[in-house]
Amino acid sequence: MTAERLELLRQQNMEHYGFGPSAMKKICVCTHCGTPSQIEDHFCPECGYRLPNKTLYDLYRERHKVCSVCDTILTEDMAFCPKCGTKI
Ligand SMILES: [Zn+2]
Ligand SMILES: [Zn+2]
Repeated sequence: MTAERLELLRQQNMEHYGFGPSAMKKICVCTHCGTPSQIEDHFCPECGYRLPNKTLYDLYRERHKVCSVCDTILTEDMAFCPKCGTKI
């Protein structure tokens, strides 16, 4: 398996699990029970707690590096953005 193929798989997995920037901007997480919800929702479907205005993307962005070109969240071991290939 080539490195490019691996990167493509990783990218597809990230999108699948909602970690692509466009998907993450639509998800917010209950600060009370940790259940993910849609950003349009105002109350947690699990516990009824009021949901924060911050999206999952905002939360990750506070703790991780972000690609300057395409906004993809990056982990510490990445040397290149998995989405657009920009060198970090
Ligand atoms: Zn909750
Ligand atoms: Zn990028």
